Amino acid sequence: MNMLKRRHFHIGDIESCVLCTAQDKETIGHLIFNCPFSQTCWSKIGISYNSTISRIEATIRAKEIYSDRLFFEIFTITAWNIWKERNNFIFNQISPSHRAWLERTKVDLTWLTYRVSPDLSDYITSLVNSL
Ligand SMILES: [Zn+2]
Repeated sequence: MNMLKRRHFHIGDIESCVLCTAQDKETIGHLIFNCPFSQTCWSKIGISYNSTISRIEATIRAKEIYSDRLFFEIFTITAWNIWKERNNFIFNQISPSHRAWLERTKVDLTWLTYRVSPDLSDYITSLVNSL
């Protein structure tokens, strides 16, 4: 939203994050990393972000903590589904829900099992079952 405003798009008065009631501006940093809604999603997937460090450093630390060959695939699927949750509200007036986010994330993770080696596929299946 803040990017559209900066580019002089006419988006009305909507500028705050639609995933939370914090009334924070919807920046990419807030939406994906700092929003309470998103932080619950990251926590569910087993990744925690510390808001006192940069996003890049936080991602590197998360990768080290996570120590997994699939970190960036899991990271991308998590962030993508946070984005989709936001878009479902904006374009389809569907209220944000952790349950909906989780179900889509599980489906996308399951699709990932078809693209990886059998050992990683088993790992993903176990991850999905643990969510
Ligand atoms: Zn928010």
